Amino acid sequence: MNRTYTAQDIIREFEKWSPKGLAFEWDNVGLQVGTLNKQVKNIMVTLDVLENVVDEAIEKEVDLIIAHHPLLFVKLNQINLDTPKGRIVQKLIKNDITVYAAHTNLDIAKGGVNDVMAELIGVTSSRPLIETGSDSLVKLTVFVPVNHADELRNAISEAGAGHIGNYSHCTYQLSGQGTFKPEEGTNPYLGEQGKLEIVDEKRIETIVPKSRLSGVLKAMEEAHPYEEVAYDVYPLLNEGEPVGAGRVGELKNPMVLRELVELIKREYSVPHVRVSGNMDKKVKKVALLGGSGEKYIHKAKRSGADVYITGDMTFHMTQDAMEMGLSLIDPGHHVEKVVCPKVKQYLEETCNKERDLNIFVSEANTEPFTVV
Ligand SMILES: [Zn+2]
Repeated sequence: MNRTYTAQDIIREFEKWSPKGLAFEWDNVGLQVGTLNKQVKNIMVTLDVLENVVDEAIEKEVDLIIAHHPLLFVKLNQINLDTPKGRIVQKLIKNDITVYAAHTNLDIAKGGVNDVMAELIGVTSSRPLIETGSDSLVKLTVFVPVNHADELRNAISEAGAGHIGNYSHCTYQLSGQGTFKPEEGTNPYLGEQGKLEIVDEKRIETIVPKSRLSGVLKAMEEAHPYEEVAYDVYPLLNEGEPVGAGRVGELKNPMVLRELVELIKREYSVPHVRVSGNMDKKVKKVALLGGSGEKYIHKAKRSGADVYITGDMTFHMTQDAMEMGLSLIDPGHHVEKVVCPKVKQYLEETCNKERDLNIFVSEANTEPFTVV
């Protein structure tokens, strides 16, 4: 029998990667139109929700659209069906298509827009260009019967517990004895109702970024044999990893600006870019920010970057960057589309192991510019 999914199931999984709480305060992420309380089969991933995207969704009988740019961003005072926006909302509702947006949360998320852009051009060990906070850490302690300890330790580690620097699967364990007495109405894995049990158990402790905690607890409960799992979660004062928008890192293979331009055109699949700076200058340290990042040119300069890659650069800001000696590459705003295949891949791996869902990237073109 095929498994069925609600839009809520998909979004719950998606938000483990890109929680809404990561978004900037001014943003409007999450449900845009429709409901998450319905079954889904066809899921379309897109950068934008323009009318051609909605038409494609109708044709392909899409149940859920996951978009990067929010459909509703500027406050609507009316839904006028004689305007493009009104028509889009009408078509979506008439065809029972739900739209969900992950915008700055997906820019900031590890492995999101900015990390994909960095990875594609070989920028390694990057950190955020604009720090927005840090992923606080918690300590998880769980008590498990000895014969299930290995399985449980592995499950929570795979779900994101126990990362310290470049080490994974970091845990500590002690042996001891647990006691419990199953009361009426229980169905104990061990022992019998009304009788005190003493069981050889391991106490496993590890560190978990708060953003991964719900996934880790779910994995823990699945790998644990008991009906009621005994565990504790403690807040910690340890500093977590910084999180934020944009990235600063170093090119694995330093090159001259001209070569980086060609690499970007190839890897981001753009026919042209706008460049400011000496094309023969060697570049090693790179700052980048998908979308519109011109207001961060000073941050990019202060980060020590040789070049800043961002979209929507305007005349005077580009001149300012030039005077500061910061090279610029503007590949356009639309390059953020590089995240779409990654979203599809993530959902395939987390929600679609049995291939019950049809997940695809929109083919509609939403790039407004043509270069002639
Ligand atoms: Zn954008």
